[in-house]
Amino acid sequence: MGASSRTHRLELIDSTLREWDATVLLSDPEQGIVLDRSAFYPGGGGQPPDHGVLLWGGVQTRIVDVRRGDDLYLVPADGDPLPPVGTSVRGAIEDDRRTALMRTHSGLHLLSGVVFRDFGALVTGSNMDPLTGRLDFNLDEVPPGFKEAVEEACNAEVAADRGIQAYELSREEAFAIPDIIRTATNLLPAGIEIVRIVDIQGLDVQADGGTHVASTQQIGAMRVLKVENKGKGFRRIRVALED
Ligand SMILES: [Zn+2]
Repeated sequence: MGASSRTHRLELIDSTLREWDATVLLSDPEQGIVLDRSAFYPGGGGQPPDHGVLLWGGVQTRIVDVRRGDDLYLVPADGDPLPPVGTSVRGAIEDDRRTALMRTHSGLHLLSGVVFRDFGALVTGSNMDPLTGRLDFNLDEVPPGFKEAVEEACNAEVAADRGIQAYELSREEAFAIPDIIRTATNLLPAGIEIVRIVDIQGLDVQADGGTHVASTQQIGAMRVLKVENKGKGFRRIRVALED
């Protein structure tokens, strides 16, 4: 999303926010809806966009996708009425889905921290759905008992209830953190001066724009479903969270 976006991103400040008031800045059947304030996560870093609803004038507009362009465009469900420009709306995020995605995203950061700490492997890719996700690692050899060891270490870190914090640093400050260099070398385009950091205290620090739970206990029990060999030095770990 360009620096010229007119939408104030509420979810970056408070990932627990589910309802808020906003004003419609643009409303177009092709482009979508732009609000002055929005808590819809637009997608990124493997985390899919939020779903939710805009309530106004006794009707509702279901939001089924978010598109990033020069602005943050909320995509309405087919056939739903569009609020005219200037309308005051009540925005609401679909809580079950978002909360599951926050737990999943934090769980994948925890997995990344555990696998780097215990096996020295770096993440090369990720993807997630609510309560399930996968990380790809640069890992040549998988030792015997790897799957069980990773699962056990993940659940020990969940039980340890480490705090998870999001904050902003300058590019210079961010790159002074060794973990940032390990996880973000390809993720930070040259023009970005402020870096948002997600920090699982004592375990994992990443440059990340996603929404996260406040501590590792909120992730819940983790299961390692599968460790797949996807080619030389390329292992994919699939995890699921307890519902
Ligand atoms: Zn992330």
